[in-house]
Amino acid sequence: MDCLFCKIAAGEIKANVIYQDDTVVAFEDINPQAPTHTLIIPRKHIPTTLDLTPDDEALVGHLCTVAAKLAREKGIDAAGFRLVFNTNRDAGQEVFHIHLHLLGGRKMSWPPG
Ligand code: AMP
Ligand code: ZN
Repeated sequence: MDCLFCKIAAGEIKANVIYQDDTVVAFEDINPQAPTHTLIIPRKHIPTTLDLTPDDEALVGHLCTVAAKLAREKGIDAAGFRLVFNTNRDAGQEVFHIHLHLLGGRKMSWPPG
């Protein structure tokens, strides 16, 4: 499949991978928007959050627990951080393989731009 994040998960395209297991891979965003900007992806190709099924619920939960573990390891847990799934055009989704953004290390505004 011609998907950038499938290729990163398979090791066919290089990324700064900081965590991986049987079902998920985490790597640093190539264009960071905060001092910490990590992407956590499933190995399974799922284009958008709209394509999730009940069978994916444990997988999505695992993306979140891995994000929390990485936030602790990076020392941004107490100050706080943001977890984001962009979906489709208005949210600015560019890569159509779901990815959880872990953003932190600076004060963030709300509402987001
Ligand atoms: P989104 O706009 O939610 O689809 O986010 C896609 C993210 O992937 C952006 O933050 C990009 O900077 C990031 N990105 C694109 N290509 C790569 C790459 N080769 N390695 C790491 N991050 C990437
Ligand atoms: Zn993919």
